[in-house]
Amino acid sequence: MKVKVNDNDYEVVITKKIGNRNTYIRVKEDLKIYVTTNTFVSNKEIENILVKNQQSVINMINKMTKKCENKEGFSYLGKKYEVVYTTSPGVILGSEKVFINRETDLDKWYKKEATKLFKEHLDLCYNNFSRKIPYPTLTIRKMTTRWGVCNTKDKRVTLNLELMKKPIYCLDYVIMHELSHLIHPDHSKDFWSLVEENCKDYKKIKKILKE
Ligand SMILES: [Zn+2]
Repeated sequence: MKVKVNDNDYEVVITKKIGNRNTYIRVKEDLKIYVTTNTFVSNKEIENILVKNQQSVINMINKMTKKCENKEGFSYLGKKYEVVYTTSPGVILGSEKVFINRETDLDKWYKKEATKLFKEHLDLCYNNFSRKIPYPTLTIRKMTTRWGVCNTKDKRVTLNLELMKKPIYCLDYVIMHELSHLIHPDHSKDFWSLVEENCKDYKKIKKILKE
């Protein structure tokens, strides 16, 4: 049996046992819907039960999808952590493991961390920058194609939130890169020599960021 939830088909695995007094719905890591119920409950009735409880089924699917995504690993500043879900609030970083509350919105958490860290590093890079430049406004946002953007007209530097997952030197390189655009808006030879002036290992770091 299959059911449609949010336009996706989900397989329903039904187990019927005489001893089962109640009907239970669960979603496992294979993203199948498992229904255990009594032998007297027909498949049609099961379908009705699923329709009636659609919202909680959707919630279970979403939760499990999120959990599976997180299984890919949790990265923080270039280090991978094993994820352990807990009921205690927030996110706690151990040495090898990270303890995450199930309800935590990880992007929100990264954003909070980034707001402090990116500002600190922008200040550091700005103070060490080899040329005189205007102090830019900082924006942090999740982006899919770029690590950073510099709007030279508004003097605004936008940094990709995903830099939170990369080693800290990647963040510094992207900041130096964007600050260099305040002198050279293009990617000319002069631009790259200014980047090198402020970040000697930039070629190596660029490669790491490409992976
Ligand atoms: Zn650039």
